[in-house]
Amino acid sequence: MTDTILQRCEAKGLRMTGQRRVIAQVLQDSDDHPDVEALYTRASAADPRISLATVYRTVKLFEEAGIVEKLEFGDGRARYEDADRDHHDHLIDIHSGEVIEFCDPEIEALQAKIAEKLGFELRGHRLELYGVPKKPRQ
Ligand SMILES: [Zn+2]
Repeated sequence: MTDTILQRCEAKGLRMTGQRRVIAQVLQDSDDHPDVEALYTRASAADPRISLATVYRTVKLFEEAGIVEKLEFGDGRARYEDADRDHHDHLIDIHSGEVIEFCDPEIEALQAKIAEKLGFELRGHRLELYGVPKKPRQ
């Protein structure tokens, strides 16, 4: 990752108000997969004048500009992460909601092989695994 979210917003010509800058910074500082409510909690800690509606509108704007990626983990809540992060897939603990990131070269290669077999050149994929821990996690 080279440019920050703020730099990419500016490069895309988005008008960056003070509140949008705060939200961009909150997204930049998040290494989890926050939903809008969580982003709102973090952003309003930095600037109490920020409303939930502003957070909604801003993440939608960032998403449409390809700056953040929207994720759905099967519970109906949209979550967001920096679209510029290195590629990875997600394993979701359906009991706790915990999200574990992984990247497996065999899965990556297999997907490319499947696309190839179907006559496609692979440009991306999304994979979510859902499970419960076999043993309590530390
Ligand atoms: Zn992730």
